Amino acid sequence: MVAADPERGLEAMAPNLRVSLLGWWDRHGRHSIPWKLGPDGGPVADGIELDPYPIWVAEVMLQQTQLPVMLPYWRRWLAAFPSLELLAAAEEQQVLLLWQGLGYYSRARRLHQGGRQLVAAAAQHGQQRPATGTATPAAAIGAATAPASPAMAAAPFPRSLAGWQALPGLGRSTAASILSSAFDQPAAILDGNVKRVLARLIATPLPPARQLARFWRLSDTLLDPQRPRAFNQALMDLGSTLCIPRHPACGRCPWRGPCAAYAAGDPAKYPVKDAPRAVPYQVIGVGVVLDGAGRVLIDQRLNEGLLGGLWEFPGGKQEQGEPIAATIARELAEELAIEVEVGEQLIVLDHAYSHKKLRFVVHLCRWLGGEPQPLACQQLRWVEPAGLDAYPFPAANARIIAALRQRLGIVPAAAATESLQVGENRLSA
Ligand code: SF4
Repeated sequence: MVAADPERGLEAMAPNLRVSLLGWWDRHGRHSIPWKLGPDGGPVADGIELDPYPIWVAEVMLQQTQLPVMLPYWRRWLAAFPSLELLAAAEEQQVLLLWQGLGYYSRARRLHQGGRQLVAAAAQHGQQRPATGTATPAAAIGAATAPASPAMAAAPFPRSLAGWQALPGLGRSTAASILSSAFDQPAAILDGNVKRVLARLIATPLPPARQLARFWRLSDTLLDPQRPRAFNQALMDLGSTLCIPRHPACGRCPWRGPCAAYAAGDPAKYPVKDAPRAVPYQVIGVGVVLDGAGRVLIDQRLNEGLLGGLWEFPGGKQEQGEPIAATIARELAEELAIEVEVGEQLIVLDHAYSHKKLRFVVHLCRWLGGEPQPLACQQLRWVEPAGLDAYPFPAANARIIAALRQRLGIVPAAAATESLQVGENRLSA
């Protein structure tokens, strides 16, 4: 078991911990993750370098979701943008549409910006191809459009933590994971899975968030300098498959012997958490505004803040004691300068974010007058309801679209979008 001073104890035990973890991983690890495969489509040998681009995309997607959920998104992304250059050349709307359903859209925008940054840097330095890199096979991506060797992108991928962290939206753990996965560099990681495993290994009574420097030291101490890519992947696989949040499978764990939480008898009680804060609750009145031609009015959110750059149906917060119809009429007058007749309720839906809970009360509205103005958004458009699929919407709005189409008896036609731009107020990202 880990000694009374966990850091010194782990330092002494690190060689044995590496051997036992890597032995387990060789037999039971996840060896078919597509962006970690070698050029022949099989497991990659230690020291062989991989293309950082698909790894980077995967790491950003994994910041917010589990591997089985993000895998189809990753394949779709690599099929659409098989190289960094194609990503850099894409329109932001195309990027957001591909991200639709993953949430945290600012990450997609930052990935896009980062791609443009690297391509611009390559152009500035006259670089054509990186010195290293091998392809994630097209078969692994599952993309008919993926080129035979998409990895040889004309961009200078960073080879240091600082270089990756200089790109938008990349923290230390993501940067380290890319470095170790692509270049087999000894960079310690500290994602949620790793924090949980380490917290249990030493049975610390404090939440990891309150002792991050210490956890970074622990991860660094344990890292195998000879096989950093394999070790980091093994640690992540341990956290994803055995040392899971509620019912850790300690009976099959290679670290059961030294694990202090297991010895204490209740490993699931770690990591210790701070008491949850109360989450605010808000009611949002939403207007689905139709004009005389049957077109519906949508607005594009500002790039800053939650769901930046996505499209939505206009509306806003209900004030205390205000009837919801009055909320919708007021918000549309304040933010779009239009007058509407608020009609029947279309749908009510609840949506929980990590920091707040929202209830959307959605009403059909008839446009009475006033030229729509983008007073609190980037731009507004009148769109045929059948063509709404051409715009990236947050998840809650997708349910509003489904309800609208059902009410109108309309079949979606993603490709055919008739839209009329009625105002524009572009803001920089
Ligand atoms: S013994 Fe159990 S709690 Fe400890 S690291 Fe292994 S799975 Fe996690």
